Order: sequence, then structure tokens, then C-alpha cells
Amino acid sequence: MKYEEVTALRKAFNSVKMRQIQNPPQGFSDKKKRLKAARELSVGNEKLLNQVVDNLKKNGIKVHLVREKQEAIDIILGEIGEERLIVKSKSNVTKEIELTGSLEKKGITVVETDIGDRILQILKAKPSHPTGPVAHLSAKEIAKNLSTYYNIPVKEDPEEIVKIVRDDVISNLNRAGIGITGANAITAEEGSIVMTHNEGNIYEVMRMKKHIVVTSIDKIYPDIESAMTMLKILSFNATGSIIPSFVEIISGVSKTADIEKKFIKGVHNPSDIILILIDNKRSELVKNGFKELLHCIGCGNCLLFCPIYNTIGNEFARDNNLGGKGIAYYSLCNNEKDERLEFCLTCGRCKQNCPLELDIPAMIKKIRNNGVSSEAYYFLKSHMIWVYYQALLRLKTGND
Ligand code: SF4
Ligand code: SF4
Repeated sequence: MKYEEVTALRKAFNSVKMRQIQNPPQGFSDKKKRLKAARELSVGNEKLLNQVVDNLKKNGIKVHLVREKQEAIDIILGEIGEERLIVKSKSNVTKEIELTGSLEKKGITVVETDIGDRILQILKAKPSHPTGPVAHLSAKEIAKNLSTYYNIPVKEDPEEIVKIVRDDVISNLNRAGIGITGANAITAEEGSIVMTHNEGNIYEVMRMKKHIVVTSIDKIYPDIESAMTMLKILSFNATGSIIPSFVEIISGVSKTADIEKKFIKGVHNPSDIILILIDNKRSELVKNGFKELLHCIGCGNCLLFCPIYNTIGNEFARDNNLGGKGIAYYSLCNNEKDERLEFCLTCGRCKQNCPLELDIPAMIKKIRNNGVSSEAYYFLKSHMIWVYYQALLRLKTGND
């Protein structure tokens, strides 16, 4: 990551931390306890998974439970059919299965509708935060690249940038027939899909004739109440706000029973909702004793406090798997000891600031030691790396 990008990233992270301090939430420790209990109950629980599938189907949602990413892509291609323009909202699972690239190879245009993700797509850049993907880019950098892409002068003004990107997104939304979203939670008791957003773009994507939801089996929650607890914690940790602007709960397609109490589907959009629930190595992680990794809600708070991430940014990441937790996850899923694991200082700041107290340093120690080198060796090496990059950063930017 360039030095200016690390500076921009730190600035963005500090403003979230400041909002967290100014906006202290009520009863947070109680909520964290409830969230932890819900995650412990749900992750890897096959009975709950079967209940989810049954209740979603009862609600008229087409459900596909798939093991591998290619299986998911094939199903999505089948659902897309002849459509050539897809609008999409932010989803880490679609990034994980490299959905956009696979669809583009088939001649399908995929347009991200979240402003940050659309900028990332245009700039062909790597994300730096799960919910604020362009936190490392300054308005100046974004404006320069957008001027080239749209072939118009774009000012270094955040408001102007948002307006230009929004107009582009709206013109695509008006022409598309299928929308793809992720999901923050799937609830077993109600058979509902829960999604949250601040921009309002998910609402626009899910009003397409066909709505395809792509998510993973670890997003299951016992009920809507537990999903709401998660959303409040997610929102606070990701943005410093105690509640997101919008929460969508989908429990079926558009329908009416106004005439003789006979159900007619598809009064408005969507008339078709397809949910793809992907395993992609998650069951193996549970079997191999790494269930805790799947408790993660993707809030990104661990990144805000990680000294390595605050020094080298998304160089401390593997693909879209950011920070220590992301690299550990990647290494375990791909049976490969990623070399960036050596950067971790095992300082424990991620664990202290994680709402689920995920013991990331312990996991990293377990993966990287692997009987070859001792922890003392990694401790020394990681600290030397950190001191070196800190010194370089100070030299270039004058920042601590
Ligand atoms: S333990 Fe590792 S991943 Fe966690 S905050 Fe420290 S350096 Fe970052
Ligand atoms: S590991 Fe914890 S802090 Fe980091 S993204 Fe997951 S839930 Fe949030």
C-alpha cells in the first residue's frame, strides 16, 4: 500500500474510533453476550440449518445449499439466463467465490451499486475495510481516476464524487432486470433474510424482478431478535453509529390474497427470490476445531486497532481476506501457510476489540508454528518487520 494510502486509511479509522467514543451505545456488554451465545448456538448447527431451509422454502424462497463455489456460480448463471446486465450490492461471499469475474467471462456486465464498491470496481483496487472498502483512498486519488474513467473533469470534492458515481449507478439500476445481494443474517425461526445498508442501494437492487441472494451457511441466526442484536453491534463497530440507516427483512416474494383469499405471486417485484447458501470449506473448519473463526460478523473493528494493518494497510491481507483474521481464514481454507502470517505481532489488540473476542493471535500461532519454527522466532521477526515499516512510514509522511 502506498504511504499516502496508509495515511488516508488511518484518518478514516480514526474518525470511526472518534464516533465510537462520542456515541457510546447502551447495554453493549449484554448485547455482546447475547450475540456470542447466538453464534455459538448457530455456527455448525445442522439442525438449525435444516430448519432455515425448510422455513425459507415455506415462505416461497427458492433455496440452494451448495458445497463448492463452482456449483454456486453454475446455479447463478442458470438463474441469470439471457440477462446481460446485473446490479449488485456489497457481498463478501460473492468476492470469495469470485462471482463477478466468472459472470464477466460469460459476457455479463456486473455493476456494483454501493458507492465505495463501484469506485473500487472502476479503479480495479483492493478493498481496505469490509464495510468501507475505499477507506485508504483520498478524494484526490479517486477524483483523478474517475476523471479518466468517465472522461470528464471530476473535482476532489466528496459530494461531487458521490453524485457522479450515484448517477452512473442509477442509470444501470434503471436498465437491469436481476439484482444480486449478500445477506447479513438468515433466521431459522421465521425463514427470513436480513440485510442492512446505509446508502439505500440494497433496496434498489432487491426491487428487481429477480433477486438472487448469495451468502454462506455461517450467517444463520436462531431468530430475528438475535440478528438485530448482531446488526447493532456490526453497525457500531463498522461505522460508529448505533443503528444502520436501513434494515431489510425478506420473508417471501411479493404476493396478494385480496381476491377470494387466493394467493397470487408477483404483484410487484421481486416475483422470484433465490437464496444460495454456500459452505465452501466452512464445515471443514468446524470439524478441524476452527469454528470460532466463523463467529466473525465482519465488522472490521479488529483492523482499526491492529498495529500492522495501520502500518501497511491491505498488504496485511490475502485477496479480500483482510488483517490477521482474514489471512488465518485464507490459510486454513486453502491449506496453505500464507507468508503474511509472519507479520502478526500476536499483541492481542484484535481480540480485545472484537465483539466476539475471537482469539486471532492464538489461531495465527497455531497455523504459523506448525512444528517448524518456534514462536520466539516469529515474535522477533514480526517486531523487526513492524519497526522497519514504521520507520519507513515516518520518513515518508512524518506521522507516528
Ligand atoms: S495480534 Fe496480530 S492481527 Fe491481532 S492486532 Fe496484533 S498484529 Fe494485528
Ligand atoms: S474478527 Fe471480530 S472484530 Fe474482526 S471483523 Fe470479525 S467480528 Fe469484527
